[in-house]
Amino acid sequence: MCPCPRGATLGRMTPAQRMYARAHLEELARRHRIKLRRTRRWKSEAHAWTRQAWIPRSMRSPVDYLIGLHEIGHIVLRHGYKEELRVEMCQEATAWAWAVEHADPELLRLFTKAHWTVIGSAMASFLYAEAQSRTRAKR
Ligand SMILES: [Zn+2]
Repeated sequence: MCPCPRGATLGRMTPAQRMYARAHLEELARRHRIKLRRTRRWKSEAHAWTRQAWIPRSMRSPVDYLIGLHEIGHIVLRHGYKEELRVEMCQEATAWAWAVEHADPELLRLFTKAHWTVIGSAMASFLYAEAQSRTRAKR
């Protein structure tokens, strides 16, 4: 499971940008021998052991594109599954960094501070849910 951004799409890409974003993700997937599958944004995930990435079907917002890159990054970086929390958080951060490093500069230019806030909030929400479940477990 990936703490991917939910909800807010924050602006849409033009049809041409969406096609370009999809084509870029498909090209990266081919290059890294990854099978791309489409899903709802909040169900995005990657399985490094089967080399499959579930990426947002809609590809409306620049955030959808970055989620796609992030999931591909998990596989390229050979991330495990069900790691300890601190390992998982490091993997999340490095998959986002990989996404930024491999994003097309033309599409990366579409990102505003609000988009980065959505991505940061996803990490914070994941930690919040983890903390909540640990608090409940101790009672
Ligand atoms: Zn992730």
